[in-house]
Amino acid sequence: MDYENDPGWQFLRPSREQIIQDQSRPYDSKKNCWVPDEEEGYLAAEIKSTQGDTITVITGKMNEKTLKKDLIQEMNPPKFEKTEDMANLTFLNDASVLHNLRARYSSMLIYTYSGLFCVVINPYKRLPIYSETVARMYIGKRRNEMPPHLFAVSDEAYRNMLQDHENQSMLITGESGAGKTENTKKVIAYFASVGASQAEAAEALAAKKAGGAAATPAGKRVTLEDQIVRTNPVLEAFGNARTVRNNNSSRFGKFIRIMFNKFGKVASCDIEHYLLEKSRVIRQAPGERCYHIFYQMHSGFIPDLKQKLGLDKPAKEYYFMAQAELTVDGMDDKEEHGITEESFDVLLFSPEEKLDCYRIIGAIMHMGIMKFKQRPREEQAETDGTEEHQKAADCFGVDMENFVRSFVKPRVRVGNEWVNKGQNLEQVNWAVGAIAKALYARVFHWIVQKCNVTLDQKGLSRDYFIGVLDIAGFEIFDFNSFEQLWINFVNEKLQQFFNHHMFVLEQEEYKREGIEWTFIDFGLDLAACIELIEKPLGIISMLDEECIVPKATDLTLAQKLNEQHLGKHPNFQKPPPPKGKQAEAHFAMKHYAGLVRYNCMKWLEKNKDPLNDTLVAVLKASPGNNLLNLVWQDYQTQEEAAEAQKAGTDQGAKKKGKSGSFLTVSMVYRESLNKLMTMLNATHPHFIRCIIPNEKKTSGLLDAALVLNQLTCNGVLEGIRICRKGFPNRTLHADFRQRYAILCAVESKSSDDPKKCSQNMLNRLLKEAILTEENFRMGDTKVFFKAGVLAKLEDFRDEK
Ligand code: ATP
Ligand code: MG
Repeated sequence: MDYENDPGWQFLRPSREQIIQDQSRPYDSKKNCWVPDEEEGYLAAEIKSTQGDTITVITGKMNEKTLKKDLIQEMNPPKFEKTEDMANLTFLNDASVLHNLRARYSSMLIYTYSGLFCVVINPYKRLPIYSETVARMYIGKRRNEMPPHLFAVSDEAYRNMLQDHENQSMLITGESGAGKTENTKKVIAYFASVGASQAEAAEALAAKKAGGAAATPAGKRVTLEDQIVRTNPVLEAFGNARTVRNNNSSRFGKFIRIMFNKFGKVASCDIEHYLLEKSRVIRQAPGERCYHIFYQMHSGFIPDLKQKLGLDKPAKEYYFMAQAELTVDGMDDKEEHGITEESFDVLLFSPEEKLDCYRIIGAIMHMGIMKFKQRPREEQAETDGTEEHQKAADCFGVDMENFVRSFVKPRVRVGNEWVNKGQNLEQVNWAVGAIAKALYARVFHWIVQKCNVTLDQKGLSRDYFIGVLDIAGFEIFDFNSFEQLWINFVNEKLQQFFNHHMFVLEQEEYKREGIEWTFIDFGLDLAACIELIEKPLGIISMLDEECIVPKATDLTLAQKLNEQHLGKHPNFQKPPPPKGKQAEAHFAMKHYAGLVRYNCMKWLEKNKDPLNDTLVAVLKASPGNNLLNLVWQDYQTQEEAAEAQKAGTDQGAKKKGKSGSFLTVSMVYRESLNKLMTMLNATHPHFIRCIIPNEKKTSGLLDAALVLNQLTCNGVLEGIRICRKGFPNRTLHADFRQRYAILCAVESKSSDDPKKCSQNMLNRLLKEAILTEENFRMGDTKVFFKAGVLAKLEDFRDEK
């Protein structure tokens, strides 16, 4: 295939002329170096003089600078310019990693390997590198045969799956706006299209061998592959929103498993979702929007929808969706609603289901502007006009009086009695918000489950799967709450998973090559932090505990946490005083990605997530909205629980914990995290680290400090540091003999066996004190070098 004529190729590998130009810069390993720079991260510089432990350099900007020797980082020889795998760099340091990514990004080469990671920088423009023809270039290729690409990683996963008979996973992480979801979509599309066609060929071949005919490929009807791809617009309509950082930000995490039969044909698919941001349903920060579906429903794509739902006001009057922005640059809500609708149809949502779903979302909009007022001198709220209350009740298909009464006078249990308890205005408003959030989350969950039912196709056997995880990376904000604790905990676990995997692989390679080396399991580095969060008496257990203590508050929790861990656990610290816009904090935790200051306010409420049971009972029994019955099906109200207990049939109580107490949010999260980790542990993982280049959503601009910070948080730099402790550079014996024959000509010809030759050559280099014993290890097929050693050999080679 004539790759170089493909319009995408220039974004995959530099032209020959470019390579020659890149590699022609003068270089002297004793002079060229990197020095730290506020703006650029690191600047190229040349050493002028050295005095004790200070060094004077001239920077690329022609400034003279004197600085401590250990602030200087070595520069790699020009032959490593724009290298495709940074693990090959002879000098493995932060400056070189940044330089390499920056140099590649300036040519819009967005994918780069760093050992086990594939790093991708958001290009902020559409590049022709995801076309069908590019996809085909990657089919069946080894990683080192082709330029770095997500398709290479995907294809490797696919091949591993079929060859090693092992499930695979692709872990795509990064900050908001870094490109996780875009990359996830491309992976899924790759498996859906390329995977399918490959499998058909394989199947046809197998059938031919067996003397039969191949199964005919599906005709015009909707294929499973289409349906898989179509889940995305639906999930995005309900789970994505405009935020300050990303116009299409996913406010939930997801794990998509594509199942294949043993020929590699797509057999089925399922989706698991995590940590949906519920608060957005009722509150949006400046510059942000509520979930896209709210605006899509208002766009007029379905002409009579608004009328059916009683949405007769302009969008800007519905408080739950109109606190900040109403539109998104470059996004047409009407067109998007068309896509959502089409996808709903492909995924077999019935017209009734769709309408019931829209009615619930419509009811949420009405609820946001239902007015209540407080009776004078009484702690009792009452309605203030009933127009919106009526409309919300209509959408829910319930009786308005009942609906309103459950807000202002819910039935609660006092001792053994059930009484109607008056609510003040604040309590009512709070209950409105809580039910709106809960409803939305339940509708979202239903949508995912409904997709799963459609994707769960009978017929083909499911022999393996490839799971793709699209989940937010570490979050270190000015104000970090319960949500950040959870997302950071998940990331701590994923990082541990990565470190452990890397350790196992290195260990295996060293063993295979017969090298003596005690490699350290860097996964253990994260154990202390993970224990602090998840073990008995850890932060989450103490939070759960505090949720059942009478009179407990967020502050008693903060106090107990400090008493239990401060000064006793190395990762639990007193928060440093707030800087800039930082909020007050109650404790700080040393995470893998850095120190995070946590504020405990509202943690008890967020963890208990209480609902007005009377209201739930009304909605759950709705005679006019089937979906409403369905989404509350697994929720047992206190009254139902009491009834069930009386009747001795308390088995199906899903919202109950072991001790009969309610399940907290943390308990539910913990279970789904454990399930995810168990699943990942049984797969061969592949890691994609997405990087946001700048905060201006601009193509080509790279903010060095921002990128370096992400490289720290996502483990790329740490991965490189770990690499450096071992022998990261490796060369096949034959290659070593050929390249360095010039240094020891006699030894290079001393045997027909390349291994013997390289052994003799290395002995010679030892004798000449060019190398030391610590610089390398002899393996069975390769020589392994410490970082930096190859640069030294290259220098000697150049001098010859
Ligand atoms: P969040 O955590 O907020 O969901 P994310 O990491 O999923 O963020 P994306 O939504 O995938 O980020 O990407 C943000 C935007 O960046 C996209 O809407 C798109 O405009 C652009 N973008 C990201 N990756 C690519 C790419 N490979 N090609 C072109 N544009 C991209
Ligand atoms: Mg996303």
